[in-house]
Amino acid sequence: MAETISGGCKCGAARYRGTLADVPMFRCYCRDCQQLTGGGHSEMVPLIAETFQVDGPRAEYQMTGGSGRPTWSSFCPTCGSPLTRRSERMAHCVYVHASSLDEPGRYTPSRTLHADAAQPWDTPFSE
Ligand SMILES: [Zn+2]
Ligand SMILES: [Zn+2]
Repeated sequence: MAETISGGCKCGAARYRGTLADVPMFRCYCRDCQQLTGGGHSEMVPLIAETFQVDGPRAEYQMTGGSGRPTWSSFCPTCGSPLTRRSERMAHCVYVHASSLDEPGRYTPSRTLHADAAQPWDTPFSE
């Protein structure tokens, strides 16, 4: 059954919603995720891109991913909360940060990515 996920930024200016995609929720320890979250890793929830809607302001930053193709990180331009990640390679999904969910408890990660890039102070749990 299609599950609707909603969330937004700290200040409340940016709000989003979308349908949960049938691919794993994951945590990622790559350097990009460390820098974009300000922590040791990201916690990502996949939504179906064509159902994804945002109300309010949003800024998006383009990077080059590990595959050499573009990836994007979006955030609230007022409070700076990270909102989404998306990539050309996985164009059918928009990934939202678990901490931006209205109900963060719905995040149930089943995969760990780039565990080899983890910082010594943020050791991945073994799966
Ligand atoms: Zn905000
Ligand atoms: Zn990452």
